[in-house]
Amino acid sequence: MTKRVYNFYAGPATLPLAALKKAQEEFLNFSNTGMSILEISHRSKEYAKTHAEASNLVKELMHLPDDYKVMWLQGGASSQFYMVPLNLQDNGKPMEYVNTGTWSTKAIKEAKFYGDVKVVASSEDEKFSYIPKDIVFSDKSAFAHITGNNTIYGTEYHEWPKVSSDVPLVCDMSSHMMNKVIDPKKFGVIYAGAQKNIGPAGVTIVIVREDLLDRVPKDSPIMQKWKTHVDKDSLFNTGPVFPIYMCKLCLEYLKSIGGIPAMEKINRKKAKILYDVIDNSDGFYEGHAKTDSRSLMNVTFNLQTPELEEKCVKEALAKDLVGLKGHRSVGGMRASIYNAMPADGVQALIDFLKGFQQNNQ
Ligand SMILES: *Cc1c(COP(=O)(O)O)cnc(C)c1O
Repeated sequence: MTKRVYNFYAGPATLPLAALKKAQEEFLNFSNTGMSILEISHRSKEYAKTHAEASNLVKELMHLPDDYKVMWLQGGASSQFYMVPLNLQDNGKPMEYVNTGTWSTKAIKEAKFYGDVKVVASSEDEKFSYIPKDIVFSDKSAFAHITGNNTIYGTEYHEWPKVSSDVPLVCDMSSHMMNKVIDPKKFGVIYAGAQKNIGPAGVTIVIVREDLLDRVPKDSPIMQKWKTHVDKDSLFNTGPVFPIYMCKLCLEYLKSIGGIPAMEKINRKKAKILYDVIDNSDGFYEGHAKTDSRSLMNVTFNLQTPELEEKCVKEALAKDLVGLKGHRSVGGMRASIYNAMPADGVQALIDFLKGFQQNNQ
């Protein structure tokens, strides 16, 4: 077996070994075609089956009602930052956002090209270390946008803000889609770059409630209308065949272990034991996120000095624990423990962190 390390990178991120092995096994001869999936038509019947299975797995695992449509798009979650306001603008009504970090800030910036944007709450005052409480969205906006998990700062919504039934709640779930059970009916739109918690880079999953597809101005570029892609089942043009196939394999694996409820249990346990180490370190490790806003996926923390953090990252690397350096914009350390991070990986990290504290305090 080739060497494998524990990969704590924030994204692209670790993938289930079972999915990688399956891809390897099928790589040269996909579905008995005598060709690799990289070589066949996106309109071939063999690929069509994979494509449908991938979409069906999203619907099944997330319990999406029939009027929710699943799209596989390109351009990353970042392209949804403009496609959301483009597709959901509503006769000049304001578009409301909560600013919980770098990705929200970018989404807000793009929305401003499409009209009046209101930031109804923000945690910028305390370095985005919390999710604002008592978020009040108006009932007269075109939509309400949140970033469900803040990859860089390590915060996550523990409960969803209320919106009026006329206002679709839009959520960027790039770094936590399928990490816990949610009620999809609370949302009008969910989108996520696959490369953090679902599959590899190169595809973005967008889920839209059907009634929202007709708002887009008629004269918008065709490729930028969600409706174009929904009408053609994400086969309007050549899609990212390989990433979609990989997502399918990852979702099959998720299903095989019991789906999202089983995954949520594992995720809560992994996060808890890691946060416990931080909390019980007498301040040697200091968590960035406020306790009531902590992310199950991105555990952010600091040591007393940047030098000590650097030493910690370096010694972890020597133990095959890779990718623990915090995002360049905030520094510190970050352990991304997505769905595909095995519990053993978190345990190995915990053992290392305890030892590092002993040797360095
Ligand atoms: C990574 C990330 C993005 C950007 O995703 P791209 O696919 O690189 O465009 C957007 N939102 C969140 C929450 C992210 O973590």
